[in-house]
Amino acid sequence: MERKVFGLGDIVLMKKPHPCGTNEMEIIRMGMDIRIKCTGCHHSVLIPRAKFEKNMKKVLRSAEGETTNN
Ligand SMILES: [Zn+2]
Repeated sequence: MERKVFGLGDIVLMKKPHPCGTNEMEIIRMGMDIRIKCTGCHHSVLIPRAKFEKNMKKVLRSAEGETTNN
């Protein structure tokens, strides 16, 4: 099973799209809860980490530019 690795500033693809129709979100705060910002309407939401990991499909672009094998 694929392990989800994500970090601050990453652009992630969510399983469920935002009401505005965009499912790409930027991680703007990391912690016990994660704050993500919709790249479409710039609305931000705070969600528990476990829920985020469940709803996140994959990392589209890593902010740190790390090399990933996928
Ligand atoms: Zn939105």
